[in-house]
Amino acid sequence: MESRNWIGGDWVAPSAGEIVVKNPSNVGEQVGVLRLSDSSSVMEAEQAARRAFASWSALTGAARGEALYKIAAKLEERLGEIATLASMEMGKPITEMRGEVMRGVNLLRYYAAEGVRANGSVIPSNEADVLQYTKRVPLGVVGIITPWNFPVAIPIWKIAPALICGNTVIWKPAEFGSLTASRLTEVFAEAQLPAGVLNLVIGKGSRIGDALLNQTELNGVSFTGSTATGLHVAGCCAKRNIKYQTEMGGKNAAVVLKDANLEKAVPMIMSGAFRSAGQKCTATSRVIVERAIYEPFIHALRKAVSAVKLAPALDPSAYLGPVASAGQYETVMSYVRLAREQADIVAEGEGFAEVNDGYFIRPLVAAGVDADHPLLQEEIFGPLVSVLQAEDFEESIELCNKTVFGLSASLFTQDLSNAHRFLQEAQAGMVRVNQETAGVEYQAPFGGMKLSSSHTREQGQSALDFYSEVKTCAISFARS
Ligand code: NAD
Repeated sequence: MESRNWIGGDWVAPSAGEIVVKNPSNVGEQVGVLRLSDSSSVMEAEQAARRAFASWSALTGAARGEALYKIAAKLEERLGEIATLASMEMGKPITEMRGEVMRGVNLLRYYAAEGVRANGSVIPSNEADVLQYTKRVPLGVVGIITPWNFPVAIPIWKIAPALICGNTVIWKPAEFGSLTASRLTEVFAEAQLPAGVLNLVIGKGSRIGDALLNQTELNGVSFTGSTATGLHVAGCCAKRNIKYQTEMGGKNAAVVLKDANLEKAVPMIMSGAFRSAGQKCTATSRVIVERAIYEPFIHALRKAVSAVKLAPALDPSAYLGPVASAGQYETVMSYVRLAREQADIVAEGEGFAEVNDGYFIRPLVAAGVDADHPLLQEEIFGPLVSVLQAEDFEESIELCNKTVFGLSASLFTQDLSNAHRFLQEAQAGMVRVNQETAGVEYQAPFGGMKLSSSHTREQGQSALDFYSEVKTCAISFARS
């Protein structure tokens, strides 16, 4: 398969370079070729999106909603095919990838329904015979920049609310994920979304990012990716007074108190830490355990880690697959080496032979380093989790908050008071009790505090706030 851009309703193959995509489960297998864009494609996409804006924004919300329902139906028809391609492109196990595509279908339906929901309120005026009310208006042309780790769900949780609010879109997906992006865009085309309403531009962020952020006249930018890139994107937008949101990295903690039910907590911590090979922004990367339960917890965790199956992404029994790319492999392995040199390895995946034909990394649990160590401070984005001991609940909270990030945090306990205190005091945008750090539902706001976010929220009703501006309207109808 070869990727193509979709600009103004036409499929075009840009010619500013190419990348051969190899299957991370088997690097000897070529999955496809990415055709890369230069800044001219970005400029064409902006013109197409600008031309389409007048008619798209003039449609009724119901009509835009109908378009999203059609896209949802087409996506559901092609669920298996798109999930398979994504698994082959970036290594997410097929069972998880199918779930991710279904989340995309549900997101499209959720936002389609917004087309016929109230989008403002009536505010009583102090004057007689004056009707005062608010209504949402679209921003205009919105730039959407996405990462590779959720190649279907993240683009849809941005594109669907952007479109229902009446915006038109330029979408720049991550390089690893662009074959999937091209296939996903076919679904929008098949559903007959009008030309220019969504425009796909495939290329390297370092090459076309500047054109997108500094040379086009965007009215909004929604970015998800690393904190370093996100801060750069935010800086560009702030200078030009473009509305932006940046959802960035995490270093999420699961806290296990001495009264936790380990039979329930351990599987959730395993899932948070190792599903998607730890490559979720909400993945559990630190586990903070109250000293009194440390030994039984480590024993249970060791048993669970030794039982998980690391396998090629298309194997339906894979608990985790490979990491996504050679770059990811190198980065994560540098932390694995650091853990082996400086920490105690308390649990490690076993029961499978070393797999050499893909970017496979055994799940690993490290302990014995303090809270300032890079293993506990830097986002690793791989199947490596570090454990800390805490004296009591107070110290657990302190350790949980000892990070520059603030995306997600979980507590495992049966004590209602501590549960409430945690939900209040943990410095994270998504705080959960007896639930894993990942897995926030699409109808609820999603986003982080501190360096994890620009403090807006995605998904749920919050996304509508980002993709629209509120107008306050007043009309006097005084009788003569
Ligand atoms: P990344 O920052 O390398 O890339 C993200 C996107 O930005 C890609 O499309 C990339 O091409 C683009 N980009 C790169 N340089 C750019 C530039 N100069 N201008 C404009 N765009 C540019 O991140 P990644 O490696 O693709 O994704 C992994 C990161 O994403 C992790 O840090 C993870 O925590 C984060 N993430 C966060 C969330 C969240 O909601 N908070 C969700 C998923 C992933």
